[in-house]
Amino acid sequence: MDTSAATTRYLIGLGSNRYRGGPPRRTIDRAIDALAARGLEIVRRSSVVTTPPLGPGTRHYANAAILAQTDLSPPDLLALCQAIEAAFGRRSGRRWGDRILDLDLLLWSGGCWADHTLTLPHPALAMRDFVLGPLGEIAPGWRHPVSGRTIRQLDYHVRRNMPVDRGPNRP
Ligand code: ATP
Ligand code: CA
Ligand code: CA
Repeated sequence: MDTSAATTRYLIGLGSNRYRGGPPRRTIDRAIDALAARGLEIVRRSSVVTTPPLGPGTRHYANAAILAQTDLSPPDLLALCQAIEAAFGRRSGRRWGDRILDLDLLLWSGGCWADHTLTLPHPALAMRDFVLGPLGEIAPGWRHPVSGRTIRQLDYHVRRNMPVDRGPNRP
């Protein structure tokens, strides 16, 4: 029996809306490769969706999601994601500003997590169609640990009702 197998599963959202070393769609692909190179087992990945800009001066976003396995704890995975964001050239700046790469931890197999740097599930998850769409491709039956609703149900709900948190167009 292989006792080294990672048992912790994460759903991670990826977003990009700045061109650097390639278009945002390509940045998403490279970011998934970078996560795999750092030891994450990529179990499933969604297609990349493009979301139109909402206001003058904002660029299209490429968004996607992955299901990954790793032994890393949530804070350690967040730190890895932030290191990869930085390696891709993201500068710390405005929250919700344009970005080369945004990696958000959306859900994990451990249920809820809350400390001063990390909240799981991601607080805006249930309100963002551009997150729920890609998630629905790879984990439609995953249940939100607080509401008990599946991703499929949340996606249906957010698309029927006008999305509340349409604003910052990122995962
Ligand atoms: P949003 O989180 O609303 O999508 P954002 O992605 O633009 O906004 P960032 O500037 O990337 O926000 O991150 C701000 C902080 O959010 C990070 O420094 C991180 O500590 C914190 N954070 C809290 N929960 C999470 C999470 N689930 N995934 C990623 N970052 C998180
Ligand atoms: Ca983020
Ligand atoms: Ca985000």
